[in-house]
Amino acid sequence: MSDDCLFCKIVAGDIPATVVRDDERTLAFRDVNPQAPVHVLVVPKRHLPDAAAVLADDPTLLSAMFASAVKVTEDEKLGDGYRLVFNTGKGAGQTVFHAHLHLLGGRDLGWPPG
Ligand code: 5GP
Ligand code: ZN
Repeated sequence: MSDDCLFCKIVAGDIPATVVRDDERTLAFRDVNPQAPVHVLVVPKRHLPDAAAVLADDPTLLSAMFASAVKVTEDEKLGDGYRLVFNTGKGAGQTVFHAHLHLLGGRDLGWPPG
């Protein structure tokens, strides 16, 4: 737990969020500013700043995040397609430095992204 981390506070239940999956190592909750009809963030419960740090700490934790995201796509019936994104670093738009996997779906997402 990092005291000044927004997502650590959501994991701890100190800040409310709409949780869609909760397992031993990961939490999945809806983005407060959704960019698609389904926009879920999957985070590790441990504080790690980005996806590369998750990989370095424990590759199986990265797999657990991916597995949680895939289960959410099943729950949300995203059979038409979905996008998984790790924004990594300020230059890529990362604003919360607790690793999170964006799951986007429920509309035609297009490619390349804007
Ligand atoms: P990033 O820009 O770091 O890749 O993504 C951070 C995401 O966290 C953004 O999509 C933003 O809308 C979301 N977010 C920021 N604050 C909150 C919050 O308090 N609750 C939830 N559920 N999402 C948040
Ligand atoms: Zn954190």
